Amino acid sequence: MMNFLQRFQMFMQGRYGMDTLNKFLVGAVFVIYIINFFVFNRVAHLIIVLINLLLIALMIFRMLSRNINRRSAENRQFVKVYNPVKNWVKYMIRRFKDRDQYRYRKCPSCKATLRVKNKPGTHTVRCPKCRYEFKTKIR
Ligand SMILES: [Zn+2]
Repeated sequence: MMNFLQRFQMFMQGRYGMDTLNKFLVGAVFVIYIINFFVFNRVAHLIIVLINLLLIALMIFRMLSRNINRRSAENRQFVKVYNPVKNWVKYMIRRFKDRDQYRYRKCPSCKATLRVKNKPGTHTVRCPKCRYEFKTKIR
């Protein structure tokens, strides 16, 4: 007797499965679904439902696909764009979270972003990356 999980694993053998792009699609479908609660125009609502169904179909197609090379190439292309955006969002969240304790300054020499303790006054800062020293004002 095989249980459901074993049967599912057999079924998924040689198939592509989950990746970053598919996880993103799951998130996108969920967000679009929520947004659609606030769309009261019937035609627009229907179009959004159709878009979501297409996204779900695309996700299932990618998961069950046996063309693993093609799917992972798609995922690599996606990750190239997605990762910088994700990192930027993470950075902005962190910057917002510690806005009381730190100020962010750009090193004039190497353009690296530095975190400076939020103490009012003029400070001399040394960039840990390029060792360049510069003055910065915190109000
Ligand atoms: Zn620097």
